[in-house]
Amino acid sequence: MNNFYAPLRALEQKFITYTAELGPGPGKPVLVLCPSARVAAHLQKQLCQEKGVVSNIYFKTFSQLLEELDQENVQQTDPLLPGNRLHEFLLKTLLSRPGLNLYRQSPGFLTALRTSLRDMADSLADPEILKEYVQNCQEPFLLQEQQHLLWLISVYQQYLNQMNKVKGFRSYQVFFNQALAQAEHSAYLQSFHQIVVYGFYELTGRQLELFNALRAHYSVSVFWAYDSHAAFAFGKKFFDTNVLGSSSAQKVTGVNVPIAAQEAVDCLFTAEQAQTRPSQMHLFSAADIEGELFYVAKEILRLHEQEGIAFEDIAITARSLEGYKTLLPEVMRQNFIALNTSFSFGLLSQPLGVMIYNLLSLVRTGFERSSLLAVVTSPYFKHKKQWRYLIEQCLAQRDFAQWKDLLRPTLKNYDPDFMAWLQECRACLEFLEHSHKWATLQETLLTFLEENVDTSVFTAQEKTLWEQVKHIIHNFSRYEFIEEYAGEKEFLDEFFASFLQEQTHQVYDEPNGVSVADVMNLRGLHFKVLFVLGMNEKVFPQIIREDPVLKDYFRRIMRDQLGYWINQKMERFDEERLLFYTTLQAAEKEIYVSFLRSDAEGKPLVPSMYLVELARAARMNLQSEDVLRVSAHLPQRLKQVDSRLLTQQEMSLLIALQPRPQEPYTRAGLLDEAKQKSISAAKALSVLGAMGPYDGAVQSGEEIFTLCNEKKFSPSSLRDLATCPMKYFFSKAVGLKEKDEVCSRSEWAYNERGNAYHAILMDYYERLYKDGLSGQLFESALQERVLASVDKYYQPKSYQSFGIYPVIWDMILQDLKESLAEFVTKDAKKLENFIPSIFETEFEKIYEINPQLKIKLKGIIDRIDLDVKSKTFRVLDYKSSKHGGKDLAVEMFKRVILQPFIYLILAQDDPKMRGCLPDGAALLNIKDGNKIYARQELSPDAFLTLRPRVNDFLALLMSFLKKGHFFINPSDFCQYCPYTAICRKDSFRTFIRVRNEADFHKLEESKQ
Ligand code: SF4
Repeated sequence: MNNFYAPLRALEQKFITYTAELGPGPGKPVLVLCPSARVAAHLQKQLCQEKGVVSNIYFKTFSQLLEELDQENVQQTDPLLPGNRLHEFLLKTLLSRPGLNLYRQSPGFLTALRTSLRDMADSLADPEILKEYVQNCQEPFLLQEQQHLLWLISVYQQYLNQMNKVKGFRSYQVFFNQALAQAEHSAYLQSFHQIVVYGFYELTGRQLELFNALRAHYSVSVFWAYDSHAAFAFGKKFFDTNVLGSSSAQKVTGVNVPIAAQEAVDCLFTAEQAQTRPSQMHLFSAADIEGELFYVAKEILRLHEQEGIAFEDIAITARSLEGYKTLLPEVMRQNFIALNTSFSFGLLSQPLGVMIYNLLSLVRTGFERSSLLAVVTSPYFKHKKQWRYLIEQCLAQRDFAQWKDLLRPTLKNYDPDFMAWLQECRACLEFLEHSHKWATLQETLLTFLEENVDTSVFTAQEKTLWEQVKHIIHNFSRYEFIEEYAGEKEFLDEFFASFLQEQTHQVYDEPNGVSVADVMNLRGLHFKVLFVLGMNEKVFPQIIREDPVLKDYFRRIMRDQLGYWINQKMERFDEERLLFYTTLQAAEKEIYVSFLRSDAEGKPLVPSMYLVELARAARMNLQSEDVLRVSAHLPQRLKQVDSRLLTQQEMSLLIALQPRPQEPYTRAGLLDEAKQKSISAAKALSVLGAMGPYDGAVQSGEEIFTLCNEKKFSPSSLRDLATCPMKYFFSKAVGLKEKDEVCSRSEWAYNERGNAYHAILMDYYERLYKDGLSGQLFESALQERVLASVDKYYQPKSYQSFGIYPVIWDMILQDLKESLAEFVTKDAKKLENFIPSIFETEFEKIYEINPQLKIKLKGIIDRIDLDVKSKTFRVLDYKSSKHGGKDLAVEMFKRVILQPFIYLILAQDDPKMRGCLPDGAALLNIKDGNKIYARQELSPDAFLTLRPRVNDFLALLMSFLKKGHFFINPSDFCQYCPYTAICRKDSFRTFIRVRNEADFHKLEESKQ
């Protein structure tokens, strides 16, 4: 057996020469076993390019060889048990058995246990031997852990047995043993002149067993990835034990391969430093992934367009590509850089996946309004009806019963089919939550999905996803070999767990494109230029944690004393070093290494210790200009690169930032109306001067004033204008609607409660007035009367109108009765000689603010109390809650509480007041926390003395309207504002421009 060892790059050269010299041809085929299909394709290409060898060389991975051997075994017919979620279900079932239910099951624990069991099975550990060892070993530490280890071995043994019992399938253990037994006499293997094992630095126990079988019976040559360099500490144990023992082990020498910054790379993890700083190594940092990819894309374009390096000779890598997989393809697409790679995403990354998940979760989410809307508005929803509008009109928030109560034929878009569908949906999903045979549940789920998902609109990718979902469902047919019936809630739990584990692949298959692979998948490949991204602490090296189920001390016993080849988890730290070293060696001409300066929330990040080590070895300083700093600001970034490398969009932005952006477009003859408009908009938004049209300064102020005046000003619209002119503009000038408040199942909507107070109190006082009574009755009589008014409007069944739980409605109704009973008795004591006489009445008036300014006011006054003797009246306004202190004169401007004042103006001199004079106003707060009846007064004197200030205040508000100055005024009110999504309140420059506006300051001062 020829046995060569060297670092990967030198090893590859030796392999190419050696394999070419074997002279593979007719009758002399060669089989090459390598770690991955990627490496196989790479070797094939190198052999062809360098030696012109193309035929009679066959590449396989270990698992492909096992399948090949399995194909030869004509006696076996059962397929291999799939390695999916079924294993976790099997484990879950095992762990609920007496004797094995030692620990609390959690998804994390199951995953850790499954990994440990897979490692044990891969090492070919015999449970009987393990058990005997643990039972007889007297080492104190082992005795302490004996119970746990015997439990683990017992689970392992039963897990192996159970896998063999799934009818119609073979376990991997049986499959492997059969393939291994086939190896010695395999016609397939015998057909090869030579078998070459290439590129491994470690094997699992199973791979080692197959490797040993091959070298025992065939002519095998081995090319082992190993070197005496410190980076290879990880593979040393395996190499010393299983490779070096071979008398023919030869170190590959005298092979020269181009490696960028080789001297620095060789000095890694040693005490040495390169003689000079390597010019082929480029370190850079970016504030975020966007900046990092921006620089990578521009550098690739530069290398390609200015240095003639083909895209296929460039690669991008990182320890993990998880954080890059969404943005990277997009950035490369924008820069017209072809990619040769694929990324995996969970099914929930696709709209179809989300729709299926939402649909099947409807019962679990309690038919929550937004989930339901998401389902019926999805393009994949089969029932193409107008249910969206029906849902939007209905105020139900969640709960099937609430939908049932509130979906009434009186709704404009009412459709009885919607309720019928909801009912069917609920029946089916509830059926899936109960215990039934797996096959029954599987069939029901499939039918339900087919009835609700419109497959006719699918793209090719969606068809694949749909097949994946159906495949998950079909897999449940195997569950009945483990348990005949699914438990309560178990079926959908299992479905969602499988669904969330499933991956879909986004393939970018341009063979001449830039390669993108994580460092694991990059092993064994090399490129002229390599970008290594995200070299930050805790990213590369990854954090390695010990296996909590099968700890390293027992793994070591299994390997060193019992002879099962199983890895030690903490040795993975050494593997990280090896990965870093081999990654750097993959660059031939230029290598770029980057780190991020901050995370997504802007928190500072620390460079990886490997990067610090690389900088040391290369005589570079991470704190100096040795590291190129990609700017955090896009305009700066755009200026940092050659403008010929910018995309159209980037170029437009760069031009827009120039003092005279029109000029370059004019010179190029590209200045059309649309461009002119967007340049003006960009300019207006970027300056710090006065308020402009994008800040709510509009030309049509007079028109807006006329329109609003025609519709009359109510106290609440004046309050909106005084609180935030922009909000008023959205609502009154643009006419944007506010959404109705949806009904909660557990509380009464604020507006509904307010309506109830008004209706009941109006009825109560009106009857009192008509009966010629006022507050002179006994308390009990007053309370009896108000309870009669409550009963008139609200009964125990009224919960249906508001979609509230019946039991909660009982409590609300009780509270309503108690609050109002207390309210009317307290109010009676404050009436003095006044009699509540006018209720819920609309008043209007043309009000002269000053001789030049008249406006139309309107308002519905809740109640007016008259004292016929003194010929005075008081205005009362009911409030469900209290804001501010007792004296309204103090709070009026600060909190913009204008109603009492405006109502007094409206009522004064109105014929309905029969010549009475105003005697003040009050806000009657029905309930303030636990306190019933709080009164905020505006005295008759304050009404007179504040009038000039109110007039000035109204004149100021009207001037905003007339000038068309609708500026933003962000405050606590923004959280209740329906227009936050379209408001520019978060734009720093808009904010500054508004602060430069005199009207803004006038408004603020007028409230002081
Ligand atoms: S979000 Fe705030 S600033 Fe913007 S319109 Fe609404 S209230 Fe005004």
